[in-house]
Amino acid sequence: MESELTSYLSGIGCCWRCILVYLGYSKQEYFSSNHHSNLETEILNGETVDMKEKTLGSSLASNMTNKMDIISASVCKKLRVSVCISCLGLLQTCESTEVIKKLSDAVREGDFDAKSFSLGLSLPLSLPFRIHLIWAHLLKKFSDLQVEETRRNHVGVLKDIWRSLVGPQISLDIDKEYVSGQLVDFNLVVQTDHPDSEEESLILVKIDDQKLKLRQKQTRKYSEGLLTNQFIKDTLSEIGDEKVLHIFPDPPSVPNEQFFFKQITCTHASLYLAGRYNKYSRTLPQTPWFVSEDRRFNSSVQELICEPLKKSIRSEGYKFSSSGREDVDVRCLGRGRPFVIEFTNPHRIHFDDDFMQVLQEEVNISSGDLVRIKDLQIINKKDTSNLKEGEDEKTKSYCALCFSTKSIQPEALENLQTIKDLVLDQMTPLRVLHRRPLSVRKRVVHSIRAESIDEKFFRLFLNTQAGTYIKEFVHGDFGRTTPNLGSILGAKCDIIALDVEVKKSFIAVIDVYNKCTARLATIAK
Ligand SMILES: [Zn+2]
Repeated sequence: MESELTSYLSGIGCCWRCILVYLGYSKQEYFSSNHHSNLETEILNGETVDMKEKTLGSSLASNMTNKMDIISASVCKKLRVSVCISCLGLLQTCESTEVIKKLSDAVREGDFDAKSFSLGLSLPLSLPFRIHLIWAHLLKKFSDLQVEETRRNHVGVLKDIWRSLVGPQISLDIDKEYVSGQLVDFNLVVQTDHPDSEEESLILVKIDDQKLKLRQKQTRKYSEGLLTNQFIKDTLSEIGDEKVLHIFPDPPSVPNEQFFFKQITCTHASLYLAGRYNKYSRTLPQTPWFVSEDRRFNSSVQELICEPLKKSIRSEGYKFSSSGREDVDVRCLGRGRPFVIEFTNPHRIHFDDDFMQVLQEEVNISSGDLVRIKDLQIINKKDTSNLKEGEDEKTKSYCALCFSTKSIQPEALENLQTIKDLVLDQMTPLRVLHRRPLSVRKRVVHSIRAESIDEKFFRLFLNTQAGTYIKEFVHGDFGRTTPNLGSILGAKCDIIALDVEVKKSFIAVIDVYNKCTARLATIAK
C-alpha cells in the first residue's frame, strides 16, 4: 500500500519528505537526508532494518530520482527538479547551505548575545490549501485510508520537521544552542510566502460568495484582512472534500517558483533592570514633560537613567516606571526611589556584576550631579509588580524649607511634635486639577517635627502616608486641604523647597564594599 501511495504522491509532484508526512511519519530522524541515504544503503546491502522502514526505504528509493529534490533551489532550477506541490520547496531546501546561511546571517546581523534560540515559522497562505487539496485527491483514490489524525496534524508536522532540520544547522553556524519544542527568550521568526499564494487563496475564498460578503462585514474578526490563516482554515473546514474535488478536479499544479522568505526577525524577550535613584535637582521632571506640544525642561530623570543604559544594552526601546514620583522642584534623597526599566528587544543580556557596576557608573557620570543611581540589578518580570504593590502603604519622609508671614514662637514649632497620625482631607490640588479628577481623599500625617531657622523660616520634617500632598498641607491650597500647617500654627505658611526621602524598598542592596573586600581577600590568598 505504501508503495502505491508513494508512487501516486511522487507522480503528482510531492517531494520525498512530504510523501513521508502523507504516509504518517513524523519522527524527525526519518527526514534527514543522512538517515535516508543510510536507509537506502542498508537496504541495498541487504541488512536487516525495521520492517516498516524497509518498505518505506525501498518504496522511496524506487520512486525518487536519487535525492535530486533535496538540493537547494538554484541547483534545483539548473537540474530542472520541480518545486514540490505540497511544501512549495520548504522541505526540499531545508538542508541547503544557501537557506541556512540566509537565516544564520539574519541572526548574526542582529548581534544578540543570547546563548540559545527557538525558531518560529509561518507558511504561505496557499500552502494549507494545497495540502488540503492533495489529501482530498489522495482519499478519493485510496478511499479506505485511515488518516484523520495524520491529515489533521499535517501542517503542524511539516513545521516541526522544518524546524528540527533547520534549527540544528543554524545552531552550528551561529554557535548558539537550538531549543526545540518551546519558545525561549530569543526567538528567530521566519515568515515565508509564495509568489502565487495570494492568487491561489483568493480563488478559494471566492468559492462561497455569501460567506465572503458576510466576512467582509466582520471587520473586527478579520481586521488584518480577509486573507488570513484563520479564514483559509475556516473556509476549508466548511467546504467538504466533495465540493473541493468538484471545483478543483486536479491536484495542485507544479509551481513555477518556490517559496521565498518574506521576513526574518529576531526578537528577544524584555530585560528588566531595577535600582534606586536620588535626584539632586529642583529643575528636573521625572519623565519628559510636555505642555501641549511644547517641551518643558530639556531633560528628565527617566532619560538621564535610561538613555545610556539603552545604548549599552542595545535595546529597541524602554519603559521606565518607579515607585511613586516627585515633583519637578522636589529633590529625592535618602535611599533613593526604586525604579524598574523594561528594555524591549535587548541585544545584550549577559552582564556580570562588574559590568553592572560599570553601567551604573556610566549613568552617574553622564547625568552630572543631577541624578545618581545605585543597586542596579537584573530582576525577573514577576518581581516588577513589587514596585507598584504596596506603594500606597508606604510611609514617606519629607524635609521642607518653610516660610511664615508671621513670626512663629519656637514653642509653637516644638508643639508640632505632639501631633500624631493627623488625618487630612485633601481636595485635589489646584495645580494638578487639569490632569486628575476632583475628589477629596484622606491621607495621614504620622508625625511632624520642626526646627526654627529664624523668626519666619523653619525646617519641617514630616512622616506621612504615601500620596499625601505635602505642599498643600503646608500652604492649605486655599482651604482645600484641612487641617493644614497654617491652620495649626495660626499663620499663613508656604513652602520654599521640598526634599523627599525614600526609606524602604523591595530592591536588594548591593553591597559593593563587601564584594570588593571579598575579592581582595581571594586575591590575597
Ligand atoms: Zn514537499
